[in-house]
Amino acid sequence: MQYKEFKDGVQLSRLGMGAMRLPVKGDDSQIDYERQLEEQLRRLKMDRIDFYLLHGIQDSFVDDILASGCVEYFDRLKTEGKIRYLGFSFHGSPETLKKAIQYYPWDFVQMQLNYYDWYCGNAEEIYRILEDARIPVMVMEPVHGGLLADLTEDAIAVLKNLDPECSQASWAMRWVMSRKQVQVVLSGMSDQAQLADNVKTFSEGRTLNEDEESALKEAAQIQYRKVAVPCTSCRYCTPNCPMDLDIPVLLRAYNEAKIGGEWRLTGLTALPKEKLPENCIGCGACTQHCPQSFDIPGYMRELKEMIERLAG
Ligand code: SF4
Ligand code: SF4
Repeated sequence: MQYKEFKDGVQLSRLGMGAMRLPVKGDDSQIDYERQLEEQLRRLKMDRIDFYLLHGIQDSFVDDILASGCVEYFDRLKTEGKIRYLGFSFHGSPETLKKAIQYYPWDFVQMQLNYYDWYCGNAEEIYRILEDARIPVMVMEPVHGGLLADLTEDAIAVLKNLDPECSQASWAMRWVMSRKQVQVVLSGMSDQAQLADNVKTFSEGRTLNEDEESALKEAAQIQYRKVAVPCTSCRYCTPNCPMDLDIPVLLRAYNEAKIGGEWRLTGLTALPKEKLPENCIGCGACTQHCPQSFDIPGYMRELKEMIERLAG
């Protein structure tokens, strides 16, 4: 297993075991952070936590979190030795990230990082902000919720061409490991075979050469074309929407849900009600102005159904 120095002489295994947050959804002590920490310590049977994260900072509530006093509270606990290192996990825009890191000298940040989001999303921009600020990066979703271990045949062929033995997941892990600011890669391993494959990958510690990087970029782009709506955010459609919907934003949410699961649509709850896809009247004006002639009314219908399913 590969280890990397964090700070203060602390050596961390580069592979970590991902798990969902604690406590689980539905526990109303999510609101009271002081009570929440006490409960976490009680359940863990510990009197301190080494790496403590504020969960899932997003655009819609970053201001509330920073104004709530919780950062100052946890900073005090650091001084008292109840928390050793303080960080946060992040699901927002580059602007929100800049706001959060200007507020406090965080010890680390956990972000979604994988080669798909790097080549087809905005992961590189977020990573570079953390790299410039010299904040260690803990990685979640290195295999993009399983997407990168279940590529389309065309994308698999690109990788097999270079190395027929390497598993799809190990390609994804090697790519993440090759980013210098990355400290620990958290993998949601759900069976013995995945554990063995990851341990092998992280023990070998093979980095990527230029051909391999190019192959992963090509695989990501093939996957994107096959699975998602490749909207370029040119916004030719939006001035023509009589309902004033932010179509590229909604299509980005649609892609996230198709690729990573419908639970990702929870972020849309931050939108005003009149901006949700249920307001689409199916007029088709957007499609007429879209250079790629996407069936936008169809995607809006599908997105509305996904949101309804999520709401139960
Ligand atoms: S079809 Fe829907 S999204 Fe497209 S312009 Fe009409 S209302 Fe807007
Ligand atoms: S016109 Fe088409 S490609 Fe451009 S933002 Fe709208 S949906 Fe996306």
